[in-house]
Amino acid sequence: MTEGVGVQRDPGRDLATAGDLLELLRSGRATTRSDLRRLTGLSRTAVVARVHALTEAGLLVLGAELASTGGRPPGSLVFNAGAGVVLAAAIGRSRAQVGVFDLAGEEQAAAEFELALGAGPDEVMPVVADELARLVGARARSVLGVGLSLPGVVDPERGVSIDSPVIPGWNDVPLAPYLAEVTGAPLFLANDADAMARSEYLGHARAAGGLRDLLVVKASTGIGLGVLADRTIVTGSRGAAGDLGHAKVPEAAGRPCRCGDTGCLETVAAGWALVARLQAEGHEVDHVRDLVAQALGGDAEAKQLLRESGRQVGELLAVAINLLNPEAVVLGGDMAAAYDVYAAGVRESVYARASAVATRELQILPATYGDRAGLVGCAALALKRVLSPAAVDARLALGR
Ligand SMILES: [Zn+2]
Repeated sequence: MTEGVGVQRDPGRDLATAGDLLELLRSGRATTRSDLRRLTGLSRTAVVARVHALTEAGLLVLGAELASTGGRPPGSLVFNAGAGVVLAAAIGRSRAQVGVFDLAGEEQAAAEFELALGAGPDEVMPVVADELARLVGARARSVLGVGLSLPGVVDPERGVSIDSPVIPGWNDVPLAPYLAEVTGAPLFLANDADAMARSEYLGHARAAGGLRDLLVVKASTGIGLGVLADRTIVTGSRGAAGDLGHAKVPEAAGRPCRCGDTGCLETVAAGWALVARLQAEGHEVDHVRDLVAQALGGDAEAKQLLRESGRQVGELLAVAINLLNPEAVVLGGDMAAAYDVYAAGVRESVYARASAVATRELQILPATYGDRAGLVGCAALALKRVLSPAAVDARLALGR
């Protein structure tokens, strides 16, 4: 998978386009016209023409014209994060979060609601659409794109969920039509763990000075992994990269998994498995968040269960760390809310199992956006697509 938006760029093209210049300004690598000339080799005339096109489209403003830019010198060019909005919807098994974000990824409005377990798209998507319509209000016309995440494997090209036995009823259902009354802007789909990883584009892997190689663990009801390699999300050929939870581990041999197979990591480490075990022992636990609340309240057994989950996840993470040599492992999801306990378990097996060279400078960090990470990641996905140089150039060409 690439980050393309269906706009083919001329392979022989070597001159930077207006979209390329916007990318340089957004990332902070350039702030003035002379920076742009120096970085691209474009002539003064060419830079002026491209900057003019971007200001005409409202995507750039001159520093002196924008009250909120503080001490920017006159002549600096500032990306106008208010030139549009993106919508985000992170749909989980038991709750959904929706939000409106500006073009810099700042949340403008958000809401959260519970979902009935096992609810299908005909029940969930109209509520998502209504909530988004309410939040975006009069700004509906300035929506540039929508990012939406689902648990399980998704097909980002077709905008459907595929091969997802953990959320029955969603397979192969096109989701864009449900949002048609809110916006006609393009819909971009991601798996929930990928969305969490993408939130780090606005966090640990931010454009200016951020980390480039991350493994982002979603430790929640399910266990997922997002891979950022050189700041690019690795989705794999079928979108199934990072399906850590259904890798087989010896401790899980023979245990039935919700995916239909046996012996998966999830059967000994996922929130659903821990909750099932506690319920079988007679504990009052409905959701893994209950277990996390008990651990945060000091309950020794809850802490032990979470630490053990971290340890099990860490055993497989150690292999991924040796393969990919990331700068950091980021821990997110409901279970990572008890961060100290969960991270202790992860550290225990990662440092025992991964190679010395791969762990020497490895950082283990909490997800930047905590329990909003999936939602922020959906916004980051939409922003990445609608502000890509090719998408910006296509928009400028349409407006011409
Ligand atoms: Zn499984």
